[in-house]
Amino acid sequence: MNDTNCIFCKIIAGEIPATKIYEDNDTLAFLDIVPVNPGHTLIIPKKHFENIFETPDDITLKMMQTIKKVAHGIKDGLGIENMNIAMNNGIHSGQTVFHAHIHLMPRHQGDGYELWHGKKYEDGESQKIAEQIKKALFLFVHYFSALIPGSVPFAKNSSVAPPPVETNVNLSDIFLRSTSTAVSPPPIIV
Ligand code: 5GP
Ligand code: ZN
Repeated sequence: MNDTNCIFCKIIAGEIPATKIYEDNDTLAFLDIVPVNPGHTLIIPKKHFENIFETPDDITLKMMQTIKKVAHGIKDGLGIENMNIAMNNGIHSGQTVFHAHIHLMPRHQGDGYELWHGKKYEDGESQKIAEQIKKALFLFVHYFSALIPGSVPFAKNSSVAPPPVETNVNLSDIFLRSTSTAVSPPPIIV
């Protein structure tokens, strides 16, 4: 048992029933109990991770491989050409079960299930947003997950080797490279 309060951990442990489609050492696929359309399937890691941010890289890759297999099973088995693949992370995104899971939802013409509706950017806003994301992404790739493995859940939980570490690198150079404006360095946890 991973997490005694988690409904998906109970499914993995066989404590509550589920209609299973596929399983391997790391992942499980089963039918959603309230499907958008018949065949709506959930892919979960067998270990308890709350969301995408907590799921280590190697397990994320295993989930992607399972998605690909199961998607073909649904497509060919049910004769479905259209499918949404989605993951809710956090309560305001619609996550209701806090064990990471990816939805495979068969779609049909006129099934009444809507997609999200977009809002346009103000002038210059998209560049600003992209810059904020790029700075944080740079720090994640070059600082958190490479220079101080174990400091964030991604690195802590991963059994995959981190990206190559730059040798003879000065941390302040990394910050300078990553941002033109001042940022507070994240805490170093050893
Ligand atoms: P979320 O909203 O967290 O992305 O999706 C959770 C999904 O889990 C929902 O679509 C819901 O129908 C499904 N679900 C919740 N409890 C159970 C359960 O006990 N068994 C199965 N098979 N699906 C469940
Ligand atoms: Zn769980």
